[in-house]
Amino acid sequence: MREIDYIRISVTDRCNLRCVYCMPEEGVELLKHHDMMSFEEIYNLVKALVPLGIKKIRLTGGEPLVRNNIETLIKMLRSIPEIDDITLTTNGILLEKMAKDLKKAGLSRINVSLDSLDEDRFKKITRWGSLEKVLSGIDKAIEVGLTPVKINVVAIKGINDDEFIKFIDYAYKKDVQVRFIELMPIGESDEEAILKHYPIDDIKKLIETKYQLEVNENIRTNGPAENYNIIGGIGSVGFIGALSHKFCSACNRIRLTADGRFRPCLYLDKEYDVLKLIRNGASDEELRTFVREIILGKPEGHNMEDGWGDQRRKMSQIGG
Ligand code: SAM
Ligand code: SF4
Repeated sequence: MREIDYIRISVTDRCNLRCVYCMPEEGVELLKHHDMMSFEEIYNLVKALVPLGIKKIRLTGGEPLVRNNIETLIKMLRSIPEIDDITLTTNGILLEKMAKDLKKAGLSRINVSLDSLDEDRFKKITRWGSLEKVLSGIDKAIEVGLTPVKINVVAIKGINDDEFIKFIDYAYKKDVQVRFIELMPIGESDEEAILKHYPIDDIKKLIETKYQLEVNENIRTNGPAENYNIIGGIGSVGFIGALSHKFCSACNRIRLTADGRFRPCLYLDKEYDVLKLIRNGASDEELRTFVREIILGKPEGHNMEDGWGDQRRKMSQIGG
């Protein structure tokens, strides 16, 4: 059986932005509060799963920082001795004011999603986000020690491909790891996503026209990123090629949606309702058996190239 030591937990399907490749501007159907897992339910489930080897947790969403009192959940998860790493993926809008409390609550480090360093373009991509707020959030996260801070850049042909080098200029001067992520056909339009796909090998080649990169085996990662030092610089760069470099056989993650469904693979439209079991009073052993079977059924590979279709849940609903 693969070792699954890492779980991604979506704490909400709500978001304070509407990135064009992720969510429509209006008409998003949101979960009812009662259908979302409570902090108590998440905590008890994680505790029950610890004997399976779970040690690391990533909180995501929607936007995890819009879930009320998220620090309380972090504190609760931190109190489980076997959990040694809690991270969070955020759009960074609320980070400046929350970073200190997140650190105090026990968050280990943070990933910030940022697709453009140009204010107008950033607004176009996120529909109404403020670049200035995100950049101040990143600085604050570094200041309070939520490090290493990773910056997730979704590479989109014709939208931000003229900024790839600019992102490395930024990482050259700042202690961050910029990670380029291939756009996946999961959000608003499959066809568009495939047309706008920019392979990571090409991004790397482009960067190497200006910078020298050196493989870094030591950068801590839970998954599929290839990591490089930027010679002479402070920060580093990573590449995640979900489409062009399938990493399914090395995938060590399972996802829990905000409404308590386990999803063994982001790309397969198969979910298992653990919240129903919990609310029906399942014992810890029953929960472990349920999850063990899900892990055994993890697929060997995905068919992302075939597209996503309109019917399936979107990234913000699954937990990116
Ligand atoms: N709201 C938080 C954020 O933006 O960081 C967390 C959730 S978001 C769904 C998680 C990550 O998924 C973000 O880095 C976002 O850019 C990425 N994402 C969303 N849709 C995507 C797509 N179609 N292809 C690749 N990455 C995507
Ligand atoms: Fe919100 Fe993150 Fe999706 Fe952007 S990528 S709309 S910030 S959930």
